[in-house]
Amino acid sequence: MATIENVTKKNLLIGGEWIQAKEYSLLRSPYSQEVIAEIPAATEAEASKAIEIAFQARETMKKMPAYKRAQILEKVASLLEERANEAANIISTESAKPITTALGEVARTVETYKFAAEEAKRIYGETIPLDAAQGGTNRIGYTVREPIGVIGAITPFNFPMNLVAHKVGPAIAAGNTIVLKPASQTPLSSFFIAELFQEAGLPPGALNVVTGSGRVVGELLVKDPRVSMITFTGSPGVGIDIRNKAGLKRVTLELGSNAALIVDEGIDLDKVISRCVMGAFSNQGQVCISLQRIYVLENMYDEFVQKFLEHTKTLKIGDPLDPKTDVSALISPAEVERTLNWIHEAKQSGATIATGGKAVGHILQPTVILNADKYSKVSCQEVFAPIVLINKVKTIEEAVKFVNDSTYGLQAGIYTNNVHTAMAVAEELYVGGVMINDIPTFRVDHMPYGGVKESGTGREGLKYAVEEMTEMKLVVWNRN
Ligand code: NAP
Repeated sequence: MATIENVTKKNLLIGGEWIQAKEYSLLRSPYSQEVIAEIPAATEAEASKAIEIAFQARETMKKMPAYKRAQILEKVASLLEERANEAANIISTESAKPITTALGEVARTVETYKFAAEEAKRIYGETIPLDAAQGGTNRIGYTVREPIGVIGAITPFNFPMNLVAHKVGPAIAAGNTIVLKPASQTPLSSFFIAELFQEAGLPPGALNVVTGSGRVVGELLVKDPRVSMITFTGSPGVGIDIRNKAGLKRVTLELGSNAALIVDEGIDLDKVISRCVMGAFSNQGQVCISLQRIYVLENMYDEFVQKFLEHTKTLKIGDPLDPKTDVSALISPAEVERTLNWIHEAKQSGATIATGGKAVGHILQPTVILNADKYSKVSCQEVFAPIVLINKVKTIEEAVKFVNDSTYGLQAGIYTNNVHTAMAVAEELYVGGVMINDIPTFRVDHMPYGGVKESGTGREGLKYAVEEMTEMKLVVWNRN
């Protein structure tokens, strides 16, 4: 067992140097609660210094040619590929993500940086036919996309490497500088990636990593006028607060959801059940598009529930570093407490807990709830835990109403063999992405990704993020 004397002590990355902070806090494993590292808790002054350094480094990054930015990103991707096992171990240790899922996250992160490298080379403007207006004859107009400047990136704990890549990758691709504030529970993945960027030759000051509390470092980034854009992934409460405080800064918000799936008649359940179970319980359900609500047409309901339960009961809970583990600890003991309370509330309001519902240490058992009413927290809020509801519906229209009856709208899915139903549902669902014949949990990293309502504003996916991280400038030549 690690002792406080032999755990790694990390430093802040500011201006290319690893700087000792005034204050430190202990980082514990969510699974064992063992101390795994000492992490700097930056003060406002330290965070402000990082912003100043990033502000000064803007010109260097703005002048760096696209091929060079692409080379750095490609190099990071290849270094990460070489050190994939080490990277997965870091993710698993700090977040309790089962190691096989963590390896999957690393593979996706490699891809994200590769996509970012490609996007660096295709940041286009357009020519404007100014002579379409009477006053515009004999003029040439074109647009260019310029880096926005300093980007404040605030990230959550649940994909500590790939969601950082979704911010750092496009920011570098577009020629910006960054101050990165990772989630307090998962800073090690960010420190690791920052080391790879240094090795890949990113100039000092282009990427600064400032750990510390969201209230101190996060809020400073949001309010400081030297920061031009905030890109935030996290909970809706914090996201809305950021939006209210950011003034005229550009803000991208990737927030939470209670993602839903509709299952139509005639579906071959043996083909879809294991995917549905994975969508509900992968990474302990701590995924923004985790499958939380399932609406099944009534004549399929009993069979769906029976098969779903059978499959759920085969999942292994345990140590995240054990390759056989499917479900491990929630991110904190407080989350275990919260989710047990929500399950209790659902039970009180008449729902059936068909399996799970209890905690084993810091692990919440995969939990299936039947007939939860739409007002219970497990239904209308984001559970962010291994909990899924399965409810019976009479018609597809009724199911669509339930899916849309949410304050969130990130992604939704439908399994159907009827092309007309698929088309109609794609049109009627009010979400950022509709998955036909898949769970709402589907994501690959270059697709446009983001939500409506309290699920956020703006889109990630490299091409779309680059667009948000650049300013359009118009140039007009007068040839009169
Ligand atoms: P969180 O509590 O909102 O924290 C996210 C980040 O915000 C952390 O770095 C946190 O720092 C920081 N923060 C906290 N208070 C702040 C403040 N007042 N000002 C500025 N920053 C502040 O979220 P989480 O628990 O880490 O992540 C889970 C949430 O993220 C879920 O709602 C999930 O759905 C959402 N999520 C969305 C997506 C998406 O793409 N839509 C993807 C993944 C996750 P500290 O850690 O220091 O508190």
